[in-house]
Amino acid sequence: MNPALAPYACDPARTRGRRYAEVAAPTRTEYQRDRDRIVHSSAFRRLVYKTQVFLNHEGDMFRTRLTHSLEVAQLARSIARSLGINEDLVEAISLAHDLGHTPFGHAGQDALNECMAAFGGFEHNLQSLRVVDTLEERYPDYDGLNLTFETREGILKHCSRRHAELIEAREPGGVGQRFLLRQQPALEAQLCNLADEIAYNAHDIDDGVRSGLITLDQLQQVPLFDRFRRQALAAHPHLGKPQSRRRWLNEAIRRMLSAQVYDVIDTTRAALAARALADADAVRQSPGPLVGFSDGMRAESQALKRFLFSQLYRHPQVMETTGHAQQIVRDLFGIYMARPEEMKPAFAARARVGTGSGEASIQARVVADFIAGMTDRFAGREHERLTGLHLLGH
Ligand code: MG
Repeated sequence: MNPALAPYACDPARTRGRRYAEVAAPTRTEYQRDRDRIVHSSAFRRLVYKTQVFLNHEGDMFRTRLTHSLEVAQLARSIARSLGINEDLVEAISLAHDLGHTPFGHAGQDALNECMAAFGGFEHNLQSLRVVDTLEERYPDYDGLNLTFETREGILKHCSRRHAELIEAREPGGVGQRFLLRQQPALEAQLCNLADEIAYNAHDIDDGVRSGLITLDQLQQVPLFDRFRRQALAAHPHLGKPQSRRRWLNEAIRRMLSAQVYDVIDTTRAALAARALADADAVRQSPGPLVGFSDGMRAESQALKRFLFSQLYRHPQVMETTGHAQQIVRDLFGIYMARPEEMKPAFAARARVGTGSGEASIQARVVADFIAGMTDRFAGREHERLTGLHLLGH
């Protein structure tokens, strides 16, 4: 037992364990092993060439899914340390949280979900769990990474009732159960969810301004950001010079990030202090989440999200490239459904099993797994190989 851990933290010595029992490692805790398995997975390496908001080919300075995941892990670890909860577990969950994302960000996910409408749909969060449970091929005797319950609980952030029932049928009392019982996940999982939001709000401002699609002046409409923009200028008046605008932006973002981190720490500490939580299971039985922003910060963070949604994610220039990206996903889906042999051999073999049993939905799931695992540039090249069309630079 780590003496720095609070009683309500997840303790690796008391893990609910792995789906396939394993001997303990001599030098690493169970959550450290999970993190190491994630970092060594092939899905993790592919995050470097997957879009966050800006398509991967648009510039080398923008966040990708990989750098986003590292920023989430950094924020979550620093908050976890202050709260006395498990840093290794939040690191593992953060690094795995986006493994199921398709190429081309949300545009890719929406297109794949439409293609899969008749076959059970596609959802990136469920796919992240599928990557670590099934799709990674690294061990001699089982599929997936065989991660602990607590890491898998954190990866499955959202889940519809229908999917929760399917998971529960496969794995009784497992990671689907809390969605049926309306219980909370452990604090480490709750924290990663919030750290994800803090990270993308901050870095999407940075990338948005860098891209020229939003401006520092336009951000004055966002009260949360504007407060720190003004504070930064008051403390360092030379930031107002035209050549210092990048530093001004960085200083404002840095102050905003710190304020959000301290707000989460203070609000969560107060929520934990108000309850006598004996252990991580007492957290799961709580009526609502315990990690969170104060009411004021929550409202301001939502206003920032709304601004980014309307001004950046729905910017005509972003929408134009996402249209091409969606066409690539739709075309690939149609081609692989008609000619599964065009996929990589391991996927083609799995798809043949599907058609042999007359189950189009099995084949469709194999095609979705193959497409979801692609990087942006692999999807673009593969589309060009199969259609002759060059839709995106790659
Ligand atoms: Mg994320």
